This record gives sequence, structure tokens and C-alpha cells, in this order.
Amino acid sequence: MAIKNKTALVTGAARGIGRGIALALAKEKYNVVISDVLMADCKKVAQEIKKIGADCLAVKCDVSKKTEVENLMAKISQKFKKLDVLVNNAGIYPAVPFEKMTEADWDKVISVNLKGIFLCTKSALKIMPKASRIINISSIAAFVGFEGLTHYCASKGAINSMIRVLALELAPQKITVNAIAPGAIETPGASKSLTEEAKQQTIAMIPLSRFGLPQDIANAVTFLASEKSDYITGQTIIVDGGWTLR
Ligand code: NAP
Repeated sequence: MAIKNKTALVTGAARGIGRGIALALAKEKYNVVISDVLMADCKKVAQEIKKIGADCLAVKCDVSKKTEVENLMAKISQKFKKLDVLVNNAGIYPAVPFEKMTEADWDKVISVNLKGIFLCTKSALKIMPKASRIINISSIAAFVGFEGLTHYCASKGAINSMIRVLALELAPQKITVNAIAPGAIETPGASKSLTEEAKQQTIAMIPLSRFGLPQDIANAVTFLASEKSDYITGQTIIVDGGWTLR
């Protein structure tokens, strides 16, 4: 069924999983708002979205900065009047062993991955109508430990806790709040942090024997954004090729 006059926002959409989600939502005929700290790459994604035939708005926004988030929502309100789907995707995962981790390392990850979701959700709710969707990109790092990522694992675990409360508080407005926990997904960010040897070792741990693609996560997002997920709220869907089964 074609989506009529619905607008979706994807944060951190200049590349990787965010870009994949934005393109998939465009194919479903949403108006797509993409935001990122990287405007040059964001504009390239905007061109791709326009080629698909969807309306698109690209706005620079660091999700950890309240003024930039409020500016983003104001631009969405001006152009599209309302926001039906919020995809909190922006996230960072710089690895550093806990004993070497500085307070600044900790604050940076928590402020992008967790406070960013707080700021975007709070501001977006002002323009989200009844029965809207909030979809947060968490990680399997919420369920298993990854050395060097104490701050990251903590931020993703907190997202999974946060959605349960938000789902309860927003249920009267029929707004659903869910998360997706990706496993190892091929993205520029993930490639940067893995050697070829580490990639092969990772694949060996995945029952479906491959890295995930941004499209695998986008498929779960388009489902959660659709009416087919009407009765699902407060849940985290793991999309990891079976990695966490063992
Ligand atoms: P990515 O390739 O690094 O892309 C993320 C995008 O978000 C980049 O363009 C990045 O810009 C941008 N970004 C960073 N900080 C931002 C901020 N403060 N405000 C707005 N945008 C910001 O990452 P990815 O692998 O696609 O990951 C996307 C999401 O999926 C993250 O939440 C991540 O934790 C989650 N995830 C990824 C994997 C995986 O295997 N790839 C697995 C589990 C969960 P810069 O390049 O300038 O930082």
C-alpha cells in the first residue's frame, strides 16, 4: 500500500545504516528528512532519494546539540507540517579499553548515542501526531560485551530500557516506540574499526555466515514504521544473522 503524505526523519543518514534506512523509506513513498553532521554526504543521499521519486529535506544536525535538534524539527515543521516516523540512528562506537577511557571519551559516546535520542525524541514529539512511530537503532552490544566499548554497550543497553518507559507513556496516543539491535553490519563506520582478519573471525561467529547489510536493518525499520506493526511496542528486535543465539 502506498504511503500518503507521511514524513520520516532519519538521523545520521549520510552513510551506513542511516543511508540504507533513508533510501528504503523513500522507496515506500515517505517524504524523507535526512540529517547528519556530514552535510556533503547528506546532500548526495538527498539526490539519491529524489531520483527514487520521494520528497526530501537534508538538514545539518549534531544530535547531541539541543539548538541544532530544535532547528531540525522547526525545518521539518515548516516543510512537512508534521513528523510521522522518527528513526534515531546516529551513533558512534570508538573503541578504547576501559582503563584508558577518559571522562571525555565516556561523555562523547553517551551524549551522541543516548542524550541524542533524548533530545530528538523530546523535540520531535511536539510535531508527531497520534499513531506515529519512534524507532531507535540500538545494538547487540546491549546484550553481549564487546571489549573496548564499555561506554557504547552502556549507551545501547540504556536505549532498550528507555523505550519500555516511553512505550508506556506514549501508548495513550497510540505512538509506538521500538528498537532494532543490529549485529555486524557492513558500513563505513564498522569497516574502519575492523581488520580483514577480524572480519573473517566475526563471520565465523555468525550462524548465517555473512555480515548484515544496511538493507537488512532497513527492512526491519520499514516494518516497524508500517501499519503491520500496530500492536508492537516497547520491543527490541535483534537483526544479527543469529550471532547472539550461541
Ligand atoms: P557510520 O557508518 O559511522 O554512520 C553513522 C553516521 O552518523 C555518520 O555519517 C556519522 O558521521 C553520523 N554521526 C556521528 N555522530 C553524529 C552526531 N552527533 N549527530 C548526527 N550524526 C552523527 O555508522 P553505522 O555503522 O551506520 O551505525 C549507525 C547506527 O547503527 C549507530 O547507532 C550504531 O551504533 C548502530 N549499529 C551499527 C552496527 C554496525 O555493525 N555497523 C551494529 C550495531 C549497531 P561521522 O562519520 O562524522 O561520525
